Amino acid sequence: MARKKSPLGRLSGSAAEAKRRFERDRREREAAGKAAGSIILNPSDVRGQYDAGRVLMTTLGGGIRPLTHEDLASFRRNMQTVGRLSASGITARQIIDIASSGPLLSRAGDIGDLGRAREQIKMAAPIAASVPAQSRHSLDVRFLTDAGPGSKVSRHTVIVRLHGYGEQLRILAAAPLDPDKARAERARTAKQAADALRKGYLAFDCDCERHRYFFRYVATIGGFNAGRDETGYPKIRNPNLRGIACKHVLRVMAELQSSASILSFLERTMAKAQANIESRVSLAATQAEADALAAKQAAKPREIQTTEQRKAIARAARARRSVIAAATVAAIERPPNRIAPATRRLTSGQQEAVAMFAKQFNMNEVDVHRLLGRN
Ligand SMILES: [Zn+2]
Repeated sequence: MARKKSPLGRLSGSAAEAKRRFERDRREREAAGKAAGSIILNPSDVRGQYDAGRVLMTTLGGGIRPLTHEDLASFRRNMQTVGRLSASGITARQIIDIASSGPLLSRAGDIGDLGRAREQIKMAAPIAASVPAQSRHSLDVRFLTDAGPGSKVSRHTVIVRLHGYGEQLRILAAAPLDPDKARAERARTAKQAADALRKGYLAFDCDCERHRYFFRYVATIGGFNAGRDETGYPKIRNPNLRGIACKHVLRVMAELQSSASILSFLERTMAKAQANIESRVSLAATQAEADALAAKQAAKPREIQTTEQRKAIARAARARRSVIAAATVAAIERPPNRIAPATRRLTSGQQEAVAMFAKQFNMNEVDVHRLLGRN
């Protein structure tokens, strides 16, 4: 029997593949830093010790030209902006919101990283969770995503470092292992811990070139980098430090926020950690689990919503419920054999709901009233 195709490929070997890519990135960057005539703009250069004799180039303000000391002042201001953005840490929701408010558009008509995440990247499955060597207080979750059209590779690895792990484990340590008992005692359950974890502060890394050349520096100075630190200012590719994450990371953030399967993966990890509180937890997804999740995601890609969009959807749902309630009242109160304008029976709150309903469905209010009158 032919083996069923795995949407994200085989999991065995995926960790080694990611390690190879990250290792190659590290090696190449090290060589670029050491090379005679290196064009890397180091932190000391940005602080003002730049030797203009090096004639480094920048694309700040448009075309490519030699870097000036005024450019360095602009770079320092851009760095402060990034620092303010993430002063207290950054969450999955904030990453999506920032990507929508300041998209990194490289040419006219470009849809930005968020647009590409929505259109091109459909799958993001957690493959393994482990406690990183650097910190017992965090949990690293390795995800696989699909790659965009025209990519040299078929998938990407995104690492998400969840900073709330130590804190959640500390709370779980005092709670009963049995979730029913925990609920009865109003103690924390593994599921609640998992939910807090996915909504909390995090750092990330991706093995794609977009992350490497545009965002690794932003993540490093912003304090939300989970991989190799990048100290060289991206003076050519991203001199304004616009945007925050590549399309793979943005897809992972959207799934992390909303996917029941990912919540369940984190819940299993937290339950395992709670049961073996002294040891470093690790959990791996099976090939069947990853295949099932990726196939589901590919069949019906999740919409990536910003906080503003979530609010607008909730407002529209409330308005819809209100209009339905108003229509029901109107139908009950309408005397038999006489159609009176429904407007007369609506309170100001209901009128407002009609207005919102009309706007949402691009109708005029008279039509909405007519709809109600027929109910
Ligand atoms: Zn990426």
